[in-house]
Amino acid sequence: MNTTPKYSFVLPAFNEDENVAIMTERLLTIAEKLDGAVEILWVNDGSTDGTATQLDRLTQDHDAVRALHFSRNFGHMAALCAGLEGARASHAVITLDADGQHPPEMIPEMIRHWKDGADIVQCIRQQASERSLIKKATSGGFYKIFNLLADTDIPEGAADFRLMSREVVDALNTLPERVRFVRGLVHWVGFHQLLMPYEEEKRLTGTTKYSMRHMLSFALNGITSFSIRPLRLSFVLSLLVIGLIALYSAYVLVAMVSGKYISPGWTSLVFVVLFLGAAQLLVIGIASEYLARLYVEQKRRPVYILRKPISRREEQ
Ligand code: UDP
Ligand code: MG
Repeated sequence: MNTTPKYSFVLPAFNEDENVAIMTERLLTIAEKLDGAVEILWVNDGSTDGTATQLDRLTQDHDAVRALHFSRNFGHMAALCAGLEGARASHAVITLDADGQHPPEMIPEMIRHWKDGADIVQCIRQQASERSLIKKATSGGFYKIFNLLADTDIPEGAADFRLMSREVVDALNTLPERVRFVRGLVHWVGFHQLLMPYEEEKRLTGTTKYSMRHMLSFALNGITSFSIRPLRLSFVLSLLVIGLIALYSAYVLVAMVSGKYISPGWTSLVFVVLFLGAAQLLVIGIASEYLARLYVEQKRRPVYILRKPISRREEQ
């Protein structure tokens, strides 16, 4: 394809050989209804099934289909990032899963919202009854803990099903950090974001590629990429121990005045233990503050991101 597409659809795929052709067909049908050229960019995340062969066939059969192939499985986030960097769309990029759980039929409406002025159209999964209780609870718990620790407000159910304007994609691509928790980064870059509810569909075929272990590592990556609060824990604990020292001092004073017997040596022993505890926690707390600075600096995120003035937005 020689012309620059107006829209890119980006789909990460790990062992989805039965889904890629179905999804491509659905997306091509949708592309026909849009007001500009579309590219469908598949990112094959080191699949070990027939996904690569399927994609080779699809790229040969359709000019609009492209595929990137990873040398091994680098993970969903890496695949999304490769897609955002490789997307050639001049106006907007839409990311969605390969398994049909993100209904592509919603894309025209997402594009309408973008035309009305949204830079990011974030699809929000409504609690689908088919999701297992464990999945509902772990995902709900994760968003609550994340938002509490990270001072951001990622809405619960914000999936990697979203439209981003070219400006937003360029901003994301400038972030140099290695661990890329895309859901957090999209929120971090700012711009005008619109939330759009959707009903999650059943996986077309196959099973989830996210095991419990993957989900845990995903959650830890997310929290540690966006929050320095856990590093402040020993500071908080040291304050708690200092509080204990104050309480115990008050108790000793009252006991002394009222003539209550305290066995000799006991008071000094308790004070020594508490003081040592507080001193150690405080020093770890100070060291953690410097570690937190290093952590923030090494990300080398830009200090600010500009957006085009609304009056100068190019024709959409
Ligand atoms: N995926 C990927 N690499 C991985 C795991 C998943 O590219 O290591 C893709 C997968 O093919 C799908 C999307 O990420 O398109 C979401 O994965 P999945 O549907 O398994 O997750 P779930 O919907 O169960 O949370
Ligand atoms: Mg899925």
